[in-house]
Amino acid sequence: MMSLPVDPKALAKAFDIEVHPFDFGDRDISGCLMSVGSSFAIAYSTSIRSVGFQNFTISHELGHYLLPGHFEALLATGRHYSKAGYISTDPYEEEADTFAAELLMPWKLIEAEIRSKRPGFESIKAISENCQSSLLASTIKFCDHTSECVAAVVSYQGRVEFMSASESFRSIQGVTWLKRGDPLPSGTPSSARCRDDKWITTCDISEDGSLLNAWFPGAPAIEAEEDIVGLGNYGRLLTILFAEWDPEEEDEEESKSDDWTDRWQKGYFRGKR
Ligand SMILES: [Zn+2]
Repeated sequence: MMSLPVDPKALAKAFDIEVHPFDFGDRDISGCLMSVGSSFAIAYSTSIRSVGFQNFTISHELGHYLLPGHFEALLATGRHYSKAGYISTDPYEEEADTFAAELLMPWKLIEAEIRSKRPGFESIKAISENCQSSLLASTIKFCDHTSECVAAVVSYQGRVEFMSASESFRSIQGVTWLKRGDPLPSGTPSSARCRDDKWITTCDISEDGSLLNAWFPGAPAIEAEEDIVGLGNYGRLLTILFAEWDPEEEDEEESKSDDWTDRWQKGYFRGKR
């Protein structure tokens, strides 16, 4: 019987892989997989204080160890330095991140939480807590599976690094995709926090709000919950946006007016039928 949390350190041990903290002197490097002969070791960055992100990093390295083709592609020199946590666009890094998320947050064990009617941010925090996974990974997992309208934006020094969003968020009229390098929209709580290194380093959380069209100018001017999380020494800011948007209501309104025009064009109102 599987239960939470999954312990990646114990899993590494089962594969005879040693796990140690290490100071890489570069905060973008989350960890490293090393091989000497037939032995393997994993190092995770000492600058990562969050246990959830440590677990994610170790799981990412286990991904390189276990996924087909990774060893051949990455360990020719016996050492692979990772940028875990979704900031890299390298396909091997992305695959290892996906592996880590699946390992720490197995769908069967988080499905009930994601389908629960709890407010979204509460669910995300519960997943992170129960799975001992990072808030970032839990948010992305939540975006992938929820029916709620939610988006996550990770930024560094006021510039977007990447965005992730649930299917229903993507279907909101006028929502465009934020791209790497885009500035955070001014006037939002996130832009007010983005250079507050002290706040970010202490992994603080702020539950705030803004208007959806402040983020996406073409979107409706509806209120959005804007929760902000400092991602610690990693230096990044995570913004989670929740909006209430019912596409069916919109469709109904549209089709009502369509019907009316239709009937008018067919001449119902002029007594032709
Ligand atoms: Zn890696």
